[in-house]
Amino acid sequence: MPERRVIILGSTGSIGTQTLDVIARLNQHSPRFRVVGLASGSNAPLLLEQAERFHVPHLALASGHPSLPAHALTGPDSALRLVRQVDCDLVVASMVGVAGLPATLAAIELGRDVALANKETLVAAGELVIPAAGRSGSHLLPIDSEHAGVWQCLASAWGLGAPPCATPAGVSRVTLTASGGPFRTWDKARIHAATPDMALRHPTWSMGRKVTIDCASLMNKALELIEAHWLFGVGADRLHAVIHPQSLVHAMVEYADGSTLVQLAPADMRCPIQLAITWPQRAAGPVKPLDPASLSGLQFEAIDADRFPAISLAYRVIRAGGTSGAVLNAANEEAVQHFLATPSMPFGRITEVVSDALDTVPQGPLRSIEDFERADALARALVRARLGLPARAVAAVP
Ligand code: MG
Repeated sequence: MPERRVIILGSTGSIGTQTLDVIARLNQHSPRFRVVGLASGSNAPLLLEQAERFHVPHLALASGHPSLPAHALTGPDSALRLVRQVDCDLVVASMVGVAGLPATLAAIELGRDVALANKETLVAAGELVIPAAGRSGSHLLPIDSEHAGVWQCLASAWGLGAPPCATPAGVSRVTLTASGGPFRTWDKARIHAATPDMALRHPTWSMGRKVTIDCASLMNKALELIEAHWLFGVGADRLHAVIHPQSLVHAMVEYADGSTLVQLAPADMRCPIQLAITWPQRAAGPVKPLDPASLSGLQFEAIDADRFPAISLAYRVIRAGGTSGAVLNAANEEAVQHFLATPSMPFGRITEVVSDALDTVPQGPLRSIEDFERADALARALVRARLGLPARAVAAVP
């Protein structure tokens, strides 16, 4: 395999640091991956440590820092400028939130392959991003266990192709699994009143704080259903989610002839990370494969839409299209951010205000980044008003 030059956006976060670990391991035998650029939001010490360890020539830091080298890019658009200025083969998009959208979209427009961990890119702007990938030939390689699972289950129909693409006619159902999070067995009133500490105790996955909260509300699964819709061209009628507390089966694809292909792997993000960066090849894995003899206790159960209303919001967004995904995502980001900072805010308010935003904020077609920005700002303003927070002058993204 020829050398691949890689830029990592969000290199100091959970996915970014694990991506660097996977690259270090893959390079032990033959140095195939060269990290040519790293972008971080505000963690200058770790960014500098990574740059030294991987001999990275180009750096971007949104917040700026006195100890950065003079040629480092700084400011809120530094990741976007890094993508535009530095030639590469693969961009790992692992920034948190819609802050990652402009740089990810630029990478796609430049025809780079994008290993996509930033689900907000597709949720909020799928109607822009997918046509852009179609024009440039960019592959969107999912760094998300469920989408990596769907991708592998569909591979028998597609050979070694990569998303985005249309789900073949012979596929009757695409199912994502959800661990159920820490509140899987809780009743509705107890879930509603839960605190950040309770919501941050995820039973199977170790992740960043925002996505951990999203897992507790199943909003993460809602975002993933919308993401799967865009990545695999599958409509709401063929898209499902099911609770699977062990997080070993990540996805299932049911074919019209009655066969269902299931993808299993340890609950370790380094598996989908490695598949995305080594595609179309596979390499020796970072984790011990599952022993079939240990799989006797796998459980599956239907999602209770009454206790976890986020799921029905996903189907609503998939059917409505346009800017509805931007509204859902912005409302959720704003509500989660406030929940994490405010122990007195009940957990159930998050989904309530997101639903309220979908009811209230005007929605329409998504034809430009400006359409996205307008919907995003209106949703954030509405949520802040509902939560009794002062309005912000700019629709700031953390
Ligand atoms: Mg996932």
